[in-house]
Amino acid sequence: MADMHALVRLMREVEDQLASCMRCGMCQSVCPLYAATGREADVARGKLALLDGLLREMFDRPDSVRERLDRCLLCGSCQAGCPSGVRVMDIFIKARAILAGFSGLSFSQKMIFKGMLAHPALFDQLTFWSSRFQKLLTRPINEMLGTSCARVMSPLIGDRHFKPLADRPFHHEVPFLDTPAGRSGRKVAFFVGCLLDKIFPKVAGDVVTVLEKAGVGQLIPQGQACCGIPALSAGDTQTFQKLLRHNLERFPVDDFDYLVTACATCTSTIRKLWPLMAEKEDTSTRRRVARIAEKTLDISQFLVDEHLLTDVPSVGRASKPTEVTYHDPCHLKKSLGVSAQPRTVLNAIEGIRFVEMEGADQCCGMGGSFNIKYYEISREIGERKRKAIQASRCSVVATSCPACMMQISDVLSRGGDPIRVRHVVELLAERWKDNDNYPSAH
Ligand code: SF4
Ligand code: SF4
Repeated sequence: MADMHALVRLMREVEDQLASCMRCGMCQSVCPLYAATGREADVARGKLALLDGLLREMFDRPDSVRERLDRCLLCGSCQAGCPSGVRVMDIFIKARAILAGFSGLSFSQKMIFKGMLAHPALFDQLTFWSSRFQKLLTRPINEMLGTSCARVMSPLIGDRHFKPLADRPFHHEVPFLDTPAGRSGRKVAFFVGCLLDKIFPKVAGDVVTVLEKAGVGQLIPQGQACCGIPALSAGDTQTFQKLLRHNLERFPVDDFDYLVTACATCTSTIRKLWPLMAEKEDTSTRRRVARIAEKTLDISQFLVDEHLLTDVPSVGRASKPTEVTYHDPCHLKKSLGVSAQPRTVLNAIEGIRFVEMEGADQCCGMGGSFNIKYYEISREIGERKRKAIQASRCSVVATSCPACMMQISDVLSRGGDPIRVRHVVELLAERWKDNDNYPSAH
């Protein structure tokens, strides 16, 4: 382990940003973790104070600060509401990287990130074969939500109700696509992301359908990799940089007008964290990353902002509308300020009556690896979301992030609630598919 002085030198990178926190405590009122635990060390102010203490060499055990920093959903609620504009997420991400570089990754983190995620082809193979064998260890539990649970006690899965790996990942269905701009005159690259590819391939297929119907040309490059957020959240910047370079090679930025995703987490990572972490790359790489980030949009945002929803077919006769509510993924609303467009899409679909739920933008408690490390707290936060969904009295809850879909499916499935969890784009694609009069692609 390097010495404390070396760590403090590295921490100087975030010193100026730390100084902008005026300790007002406003972040307490919005932090889902603080609401669950009531501990000052869990809220942004407390974590920033710990990092400040580390800088001043007040602690001789940086690992305990690292543990505190890991107890965070990286939901960005604190940053979105901070009156001093403290870039809390940038500080946390950089500090996690510095601390992980200082004390090293655990054995399991090395296995997962350096051994698997950093090698996209191997990762694809491993998840594919896991999907073949998962039925031995798991059993279906809720047909409506499509969840499963462990057959026997599993230390990793616990008693979660989870969405299993799909039999066929999306990249087996559509390994490559390159179509010219249709009547919209636009061409987009589709960044699929791991969860859509391996757990929700239907949603990825629905993105393709919707873009086709909207007359949008598509580029789906072969061999695209994870956006890198799981590795970066754990502080593994090496794996993150490797995945960033891998993806940059596959998405030639001059070949498309926009890069779209249907995953709020991927969108936010590409828009915000790719440029943040490319700061030390050469000029040409930095420029490419900045241009891709500027072009990256959530699928609903793309469809609405580019006025491509005018052709959504109606059902014709008024049938009983389905009542649908919407959960705002933190990475979409708090990180990117995108909340109106998914609602516009839902409101454009005839046959749906949109109902706003109380606290639609409150975190669902997923938080990526937070859900694995701190499942009980994650579940408690998720329970609050479940109550809000129940109170909306809707039969469907829509959202724009596959990670939120997994968390919400878990809490609803455990509670036995007859409420479906859908991606906004699924509902739109279904309306387009159901109607023979949809517009032609060209
Ligand atoms: S992070 Fe922002 S909201 Fe929280 S205490 Fe500091 S200044 Fe106040
Ligand atoms: S990112 Fe979310 S969980 Fe973490 S400190 Fe901020 S509000 Fe709390």
